[in-house]
Amino acid sequence: MSNKIIWFRNDLRTNDHEALHQCSNQKQPVIGIYCFDAKLFQKHRLGFANAGNQRLNFLLASLSYLKKEMQNLGSDLLIYQEAAHKVIPRVCNALQIEEIFWQQLPGTAEEREATLVQTEIKKLNIRAKTYWDSTLTSISQMPFSIEHLPDLFTTFKNRVEPRMAPAVPLPKPKQLIGIKHELSQQELPNFTTPPVLNNWFSLKGGEDEALLRLNEYTWENNAIQNYKETRNGLIGKDYSSKLSPYLALGCISARQVYKEVKDYEHAVISNASTYWLIYELIWRDYFKWILVKYGSKLFQPNGLQPMPWPWKNDKVKFERWRLGETGQAFIDANMRELLHTGFMSNRGRQNVASYLCKDLGINWLWGAAWFESQLIDYDASSNYGNWAYQAGVGNDARSDRKFNPVKQAENYDPKKEYVSFWLNQ
Ligand code: FAD
Repeated sequence: MSNKIIWFRNDLRTNDHEALHQCSNQKQPVIGIYCFDAKLFQKHRLGFANAGNQRLNFLLASLSYLKKEMQNLGSDLLIYQEAAHKVIPRVCNALQIEEIFWQQLPGTAEEREATLVQTEIKKLNIRAKTYWDSTLTSISQMPFSIEHLPDLFTTFKNRVEPRMAPAVPLPKPKQLIGIKHELSQQELPNFTTPPVLNNWFSLKGGEDEALLRLNEYTWENNAIQNYKETRNGLIGKDYSSKLSPYLALGCISARQVYKEVKDYEHAVISNASTYWLIYELIWRDYFKWILVKYGSKLFQPNGLQPMPWPWKNDKVKFERWRLGETGQAFIDANMRELLHTGFMSNRGRQNVASYLCKDLGINWLWGAAWFESQLIDYDASSNYGNWAYQAGVGNDARSDRKFNPVKQAENYDPKKEYVSFWLNQ
């Protein structure tokens, strides 16, 4: 028996969790650790918080549920507002830890932190066991190496999909052996958020909420049957799955969603809509691999393209865009939804991104930073990948598509219900 730590990152769940499963099966004493990234509590150079209150509260709710669950299973989750590479060696020494598990994440900051942890624990002779579990397809299942990842999504999908075989989700452990400790932890802060608006949906963080939502969207409401027709909607909870915040923090895994869709197809109906949800999850996978392939390049103003881009750094226009005060009703309504709720539809995101980059000519990285601050489903690969794509500097530079917000509003909000709701708040 040797004491183990699971360093939780974007895998805030107990179901389909490789490390928890292993510790439980092998009856190894284990404790969880989560470390807030200090950057979250700092300001962006453009003056707004790196992480807004909606995003922080969603994360806190997810953590407090995970802590409760870890305790119910017989262990605990230690939560720190300090960098992992500083906390982990201290806890390792105090609890005679011999092995640490963690989820591998794409992203420059994420990889840097993992390398720092690795260096620190090596000094203490502690083993690291890492795993990749955030995509449907693992790297070993792909028919090409990361260097040869196709730069066109369709090529990627056509090559990966026929052999796609996501791992079956692992069951939740029945019990864990905890590690007794007297380590002190800071109180978790609380952040004030605007009140939930009547007639508007709200999403709460946590693995329990993730499972409830998956069940509601599939078996209870059968909304998945019509996903392909409704997915460009703007109003209501069921026009799309609303699983993104849970997937982003790992309150649920993509493999769990995949399995549920397959079970639903088997038991109820398999149609173009049920397929399309999987198709979107393949997009999600693809952006993760793009970030693995290109790393820090994805965060440059010219993105993955070789030529410098003449972005305007116009703070006045950017502020109007950010606060939903451009005077363009469809854009403003979407930006106000984001500001108030921490969420925006995919249709909205495409429009406001196109407007910032292509109508105002403003640096897409500024827009991406604002989304990073506000979105409860913020995910580095999906956010920066989609922004770069909309800005025309992503993996597929052929995308010179520009959205016309007037026409978009006519098509997707013909009765102006969405715009009136948000402009009259
Ligand atoms: P559904 O339509 O129900 O789709 C199911 C799942 O598929 C989603 O939960 C998501 O995990 C995945 N998915 C769907 N569309 C995309 C896409 N275009 N790219 C990657 N994955 C996708 N998504 C994030 O999760 N985090 C982000 O930070 C993020 N930033 C974005 C920024 C821009 C500029 C744009 C255009 C899109 C962004 N997206 C992001 C993708 C997409 O808008 C959201 O995933 C989706 O709107 C979430 O709602 P849903 O869960 O109801 O999605």
